[in-house]
Amino acid sequence: MNDLPRIGLGIDVHRLEPGRPCMLGGVHFDAKVGPVGHSDGDALLHAACDAVLGAAGLDDLGSLFSDRDPANLGRASAEFCIATMARVRAKSLRVLSLDAVVETEAPKLAPHRQAIREKLAHLFELPADRVNVKGKTGEKVDAIGRGEAMRATVVALLGPAIE
Ligand code: MG
Repeated sequence: MNDLPRIGLGIDVHRLEPGRPCMLGGVHFDAKVGPVGHSDGDALLHAACDAVLGAAGLDDLGSLFSDRDPANLGRASAEFCIATMARVRAKSLRVLSLDAVVETEAPKLAPHRQAIREKLAHLFELPADRVNVKGKTGEKVDAIGRGEAMRATVVALLGPAIE
């Protein structure tokens, strides 16, 4: 029953505060603000994991890695991706493509877009030309527009693993 493609959606929001390290898509940004989170707060990797887990019919990221577990405190979100992919492989699936939107006033995504695509491709085990990342501002509207938070939205397409 693994022969048909499966789509998954992940959305994640993190509050931004001055002086926090800024990780996005597994890439460090030199920025004045960074995400508040139990782990490293990487909204894009969290949304990507949830999209992939959702497509695979698995539990969501928060269920697999509780934000109340001290073991996940300050943890690099790349580790969540590695654990997610182990579960995907165990179901004889692979990631066929990822498409992401990151909404944030600052930092700007553009200078790091290619690095993020390559990082996501590496973490989710697919070619970089099957990963896309788009940056948008919040148009000065709501918490994102005021620079208080960032949001990442990712869709993932999964298909059967290559035998
Ligand atoms: Mg998160």
